[in-house]
Amino acid sequence: MAAKTEEFDVAVVGGGPAGSTLAALVAKQGHRVVVLEKENFPRYQIGESLLPSTIHGVCRLSGAADDLAEAGFPLKRGGTFRWGARPEPWTFAFSVSPRMAGPTSVAYQVERSKFDDILLKNARKQGADVREGCSVRGLIEEGERVRGLTYAGADGSEREIRAKYVVDASGNKSRIYNKVGGTREYSDFFRSLALFGYFENGKRMPEPNRFNILCVAFESGWFWYIPLSDTLTSVGAVVRREMADKIQGDPEKALRALIDECPMIADYLSDATRVTEGQYGEIRVRKDYSYHQTTFTRPGMMLVGDAACFVDPVFSSGVHLATYSSLLAARSLNSVLEGKVDEDAAMREFEARYRREYGVFYEFLVSFYEMHRDENSYFWQAKKVTANTEPELQAFVELIGGVSSGEQGLMNAEALGERLAENSEEFATAVEKYAANDDGSSVPLFSSSVVRNAMQEAGQVQMRALLGEDAEPEAPMFPGGLVSSADGLYWLPSTTA
Ligand code: FAD
Repeated sequence: MAAKTEEFDVAVVGGGPAGSTLAALVAKQGHRVVVLEKENFPRYQIGESLLPSTIHGVCRLSGAADDLAEAGFPLKRGGTFRWGARPEPWTFAFSVSPRMAGPTSVAYQVERSKFDDILLKNARKQGADVREGCSVRGLIEEGERVRGLTYAGADGSEREIRAKYVVDASGNKSRIYNKVGGTREYSDFFRSLALFGYFENGKRMPEPNRFNILCVAFESGWFWYIPLSDTLTSVGAVVRREMADKIQGDPEKALRALIDECPMIADYLSDATRVTEGQYGEIRVRKDYSYHQTTFTRPGMMLVGDAACFVDPVFSSGVHLATYSSLLAARSLNSVLEGKVDEDAAMREFEARYRREYGVFYEFLVSFYEMHRDENSYFWQAKKVTANTEPELQAFVELIGGVSSGEQGLMNAEALGERLAENSEEFATAVEKYAANDDGSSVPLFSSSVVRNAMQEAGQVQMRALLGEDAEPEAPMFPGGLVSSADGLYWLPSTTA
């Protein structure tokens, strides 16, 4: 039987954080958007520790922030690391000052089945046609241009959709990402395997760090320990590929053996029991190899989220990159669909900004691992150093300040603007605080003058961003590039050239 054909402005493949965010941001501008998701939500996914800019920036713009706030996810104030040669754990907080301990200085630890479901429902609420149980099979191509896709409907029937743009948001297992052209390039530096499960009644760090992510390095790699509620904890070991034999065989025994290798995690789990039923009952294995596609766009097609790139999970960047790339892509689509900017310029801006954000995390992570090799850490002897032209520590600092992109849309100006703008000395104090532990001892990552100076600069950028209309006009990120509109949903030609 001939496939039934429908028409949309944008067809989104995959309803994870990338797909649902993109769909919401484009549908709310009145465009016809369809989302095809092969699973029926809620469904399991890994990636439970989030960053503040996702919650207070992108999800505020997409309309999901209030529903997320109502869901009661634990508040993550920062990260605690037992990492490298230093024997004591050290902690960083997202808030740059105790006086700013406002709502935007925290992120959430989320059960992804709940988080992703809220985001997908929000896409529907914003006007997208969301279809679950629908698996995309292939693309409709005419010459260079992608014109639509084919999929199996929930009833198994073959269907097709014609769309001005197809956005692949179907994650690392995407079946269509390579249709964009180029190749998926894997990093030689980050090649690891993760083995993870869930525990009830694991220990908690003392307040205010009770719901921080805890990352603990050990001989074979590192553990994440993510508190998802008062009693439920996500626990995963990331081991380098040379240690792959440690996760072969019975996963229960393999996870137990790795836990026993790591005294701090063994202690935190000493009174805990592993969850053995429901969505958390399985011990899972995932490759977390880092990769990027050498091109993110083609006429009529874009890649967002994990379909485009992924980098080592130690700093919880996955959902941030997924939702942020969708914000960038949505601006391009909204602008082109409404004739505000030409297609080439819009696609270039999307790709350049997404690559820059990915690069910031990549370089930061390389420096994070390298630093510990320099300090004779027992953690991961780095085998190969990726060629870097940017200062790595600066990338980290811009990143941790939440301002690496200089994006106005990623901050909640209403909540923080006045307090931030009122006193720049506050930033200087905050920088000093970052550089020291509570006991006054220095934190290795923050102790160099390069880092401190860069943090001061980051604070200034953040202040400018928060001044909104009173701020100087935004400069393009790249020569001849575009700037974002005041509402954060479009690109505009720069007026500062
Ligand atoms: P996904 O979340 O994978 O969503 C893709 C969706 O597409 C899925 O729902 C899938 O069902 C659907 N789909 C696939 N194929 C098709 C098809 N053919 N047709 C229709 N639908 C389809 N990130 C963090 O932010 N914090 C963390 O703590 C973190 N920890 C991690 C730990 C590990 C070990 C790993 C490997 C990753 C971790 N991540 C973390 C990364 C995070 O999991 C991903 O970056 C994030 O889920 C990407 O979102 P996405 O929307 O691009 O893709």
